[in-house]
Amino acid sequence: MEPPMAQTADTAKTSYQGQMHLLQKEIMGRYFERVTRAAEQGDGKAVFMLISGNPVELVHAFDMIPVYPEIDALQLAVKKAALPFIQKAEELGYSMDNCAYVKADVGLFLGGRKTPFATIPLPSLILCNYVGCNVYLQWFEHLAEYCDGKIYNLDIPFMRDPSGKPSPEDIAYVVHQLEEVIAICEELTGKKLDWDKLKRIVALSGETGELWAKIKSLTKHIPSPFDNYFDSVTMMAPLYCLRGTEDGLKFFQTALREMEEKVQMGSGPLPEERFRFVIEGPPPWPYLRTFRDLFAKWGAVAVASTYSTVGGLWEFGFKHDPNRPLESIAEHMLQWNVTNRNFLQRYEQIRRYIQEWSADALVIHSVKSCRLFSAGQGDMREYFTKELGIPTLLIESDLEDPRYFSEAQIKNRIDAFFESLEHRKLTHKTQAAGATL
Ligand code: SF4
Repeated sequence: MEPPMAQTADTAKTSYQGQMHLLQKEIMGRYFERVTRAAEQGDGKAVFMLISGNPVELVHAFDMIPVYPEIDALQLAVKKAALPFIQKAEELGYSMDNCAYVKADVGLFLGGRKTPFATIPLPSLILCNYVGCNVYLQWFEHLAEYCDGKIYNLDIPFMRDPSGKPSPEDIAYVVHQLEEVIAICEELTGKKLDWDKLKRIVALSGETGELWAKIKSLTKHIPSPFDNYFDSVTMMAPLYCLRGTEDGLKFFQTALREMEEKVQMGSGPLPEERFRFVIEGPPPWPYLRTFRDLFAKWGAVAVASTYSTVGGLWEFGFKHDPNRPLESIAEHMLQWNVTNRNFLQRYEQIRRYIQEWSADALVIHSVKSCRLFSAGQGDMREYFTKELGIPTLLIESDLEDPRYFSEAQIKNRIDAFFESLEHRKLTHKTQAAGATL
């Protein structure tokens, strides 16, 4: 069945390309130019890091360049350029079941480090912030071995206490490691850490996180001014690469202004918002547009997503504190990002999104090669469907490998789900009308 509004994917496409998008292109373009200069002219020292709960503030404090292999891998996927690199890694012996981000990145690393968006430099430091995903460890160990590079593994204890809070010992343990990282950066750059500069950077991160939290709370409005999954992606790159910089702050100030204007005008990303959903799991990057259009044609807008919290969870009250720079970086890594939290905390996060963001349904995108996200999602579906009575759809593909995206199959599942949601809405309306007769 076609959606009643008979919106085709084309007519339902999001239309706005505001100031925020132009600014994002400009500042991310400058970032990738800097990355390329480091690779091609030796201008600057690169630090490889991972997205989840990263200590980018320290890297900026030494004027080093944060490089995220996850962002490189996902950019390759978006540009439909990942498969040859994945296959190169498979030829080297990486299994079909390995994380496809790892394979794309290893293929790229050993295959010239040239991408359509930047040339990736060799790292001066491979800083493995082990937050949540055990694949990180081997991934960065492999990179270090391939380039004989310097590696430091930040060991971040998992949030195992039912309170969901780190112990004082956990925080002290991470702070001590951050001090070791500072010593390494001092040695690599020949400069002592400027504590005042670090505090200014941490303050900028605090302001940036606060703006991001405000932006995300705007999607509680009906209609939501933007899609908090597909459009959040535009904001996530500056959040990770440029958090703690003036460019990053300016971007989030612009984005907030623009989104507040949209709220004032009552406009959203689609001509009509008919369904509001929460989504769990990373997107299928090689088919991002196709995937988005499958929801758009039903007038379905994602009002919240767990994926947009992989690098940090600011919407529930966290703010970097310049007066406790290392402690607050440690708290961010330990407590305030989805990947280092236990499953019950993730349930609670999703439950709050559904209730506080007035969502009709939960969609779980299960990613074949990402065990960190997909392990336990079957139970999650049971919990939300059976315990909480929330309509929940589980679909599967991959975040990087285009061979695992079956458009026809996913379209059928999404269409059937929204058709039944439509029916449910109509039934509720009829019952409510009957009750008032
Ligand atoms: S398994 Fe998932 S979280 Fe871990 S590196 Fe791969 S994509 Fe990232």
